[in-house]
Amino acid sequence: MNSRRHFIRLAACSGAVLLASREALAADPPIVDEKDPQAVALGYVADATKANKAKYASYKDGQACSTCQFYQGKAGSASGACPVLGGKLVAAKGWCSAYAKKAA
Ligand code: SF4
Repeated sequence: MNSRRHFIRLAACSGAVLLASREALAADPPIVDEKDPQAVALGYVADATKANKAKYASYKDGQACSTCQFYQGKAGSASGACPVLGGKLVAAKGWCSAYAKKAA
């Protein structure tokens, strides 16, 4: 193979690898699975209305991650990181037993 063709091939491959890495870095991590051991321990659910009200008497209608002081998502976002769940993404409409209302 002549060196020019080899160089072009190498450059194309490097570009594809760089592009793939950038996309991987830009992508948000997935929303925490309800079956994640930390999530289970805290009774996390992606839909607050499905919180186990019998087990978690602290749950009140209207509570959701988006109004919790630990929620780090932007206003109106569908998900955001939660330090209580190791910085993983939680659903804005989610809930767990560590819920603490955000100060107004
Ligand atoms: S601590 Fe707050 S933001 Fe985090 S999962 Fe529990 S309710 Fe949601």
